[in-house]
Amino acid sequence: MAPDKPANLTSPSLSSFAAVEQEIARACADARRERAAVTLIAVSKTFGAEAIAPVIAAGQRVFGENRVQEAKAKWPELIGAHPDIKLHLIGPLQSNKAKEAVALFDAIHSVDRPSLCQALAKEIAAQKKHPLLFVQVNTGEEPQKAGIAPADADAFIASCSDQYGLTISGLMCIPPVNEAPGPHFALTAKIAARNGLKHLSMGMSADFATAIQFGATHIRVGSAIFGHR
Ligand SMILES: *Cc1c(COP(=O)(O)O)cnc(C)c1O
Repeated sequence: MAPDKPANLTSPSLSSFAAVEQEIARACADARRERAAVTLIAVSKTFGAEAIAPVIAAGQRVFGENRVQEAKAKWPELIGAHPDIKLHLIGPLQSNKAKEAVALFDAIHSVDRPSLCQALAKEIAAQKKHPLLFVQVNTGEEPQKAGIAPADADAFIASCSDQYGLTISGLMCIPPVNEAPGPHFALTAKIAARNGLKHLSMGMSADFATAIQFGATHIRVGSAIFGHR
C-alpha cells in the first residue's frame, strides 16, 4: 500500500504556490534573468498559521505582511520553528511603530517621509538591526496612496542617507489598479538606476511576470498563493 501523503500536500495553497513558482521561472527565462535574481515575497496578510505552514513546508522562507500588529501576533511562533524565515513589511508604517517594525522585520518597503526616516534611524541605532529599506514611490501620483512623488524621489533618497544615515537598498511601487503596470515599473526602475539603487520591489499577483521583465528583484505575491482575502 502506498504511504499516506502528508496533509500539507493536499492543501490548496500548495498547488497555487507551485504554480506561482512555475510562472516566476518562466518569466525569468523569458527575460533572460536568473531565477535567483528574483525574491518571491509570499504575502500572507489576513491568513493564519494553518494556511502559512504548508507554504513554509514547501520551502518558502520570505513572507510579507502589511500590518505590524498582525505580524507580531502571527509570526514569532512560526519564526521560532523556522529561524531562517525573513519577514518583509510591505504596508504603510506609522512612526510610532518603528520600534516594533525594526525588531520584527528584515525589510521595510514603505519608507516615504522624513518623520519615518528619523524614527527608523533611531531604532536601527538602538537595536543594532539593519532591515533592508525600500523607498516607496507613488508612481501614479494617487492622492490616497502612500509613497513619495516621482519628482521628489531623488531628493528624498539623498536625504535618507545625508540627513538620517539610512542605507536605502531599493524602491517599491504599487501601480494604479486601472492602468497598465509596465510604465510604472519602468519609471521605478529608471529612478532606481539613476540613484544607484539595486533592488526593485514591484509586481503583485496580477502582474509579477511583467514586473520581472522590468527588472523586479522582489515580487510581492499574496492571493495567487493563498487565495482570495
Ligand atoms: C496585499 C499586497 C500585495 C499582494 O497583493 P496580491 O494581489 O494579493 O498579490 C502586494 N503588495 C502590497 C503592498 C500589498 O499590500
